[in-house]
Amino acid sequence: GNEEDAAKAAAATADSGASTIFDKIINKEIPSTIVYEDDKVLAFRDVNPQAPVHVLVIPKLRDGLTQLGKAEERHGNILGRLMCAAKIVAEKEGILDGFRVVINNGPGACQSVYHLHLHVLGGRQMKWPPG
Ligand code: C5P
Repeated sequence: GNEEDAAKAAAATADSGASTIFDKIINKEIPSTIVYEDDKVLAFRDVNPQAPVHVLVIPKLRDGLTQLGKAEERHGNILGRLMCAAKIVAEKEGILDGFRVVINNGPGACQSVYHLHLHVLGGRQMKWPPG
């Protein structure tokens, strides 16, 4: 409906390069429910979950990765670490038999936070295609 369209338009902001709310979560200035953490990666529950399990996996150091579309050769290691962390989260959450990993890139995909993040979703039957 119109309300939904408005919400999506609001979410579809562009990449300004400014620091994001995720820095405050990383620095523990605002609380989050952490599911997994290591030296490079933090995983915490999404405040607006779209499935019974909805966890965001982010690099602690953004290092230019406002979005996947900014990935360069030097990001290979952290990108691998994020994927491995997504698997660890799925395992910890008991959804290894059925989970989805999503990266929204840019306004056209309704990206709203410009600090690269993997959505790990599961705990219900996931549908295809996604919206
Ligand atoms: O892919 P996208 O940029 O739209 O995802 C951002 C996600 O960050 C949203 O799912 C939103 O609910 C989540 N978020 C959060 N805590 C915040 C701000 C946003 O979990 N403080």
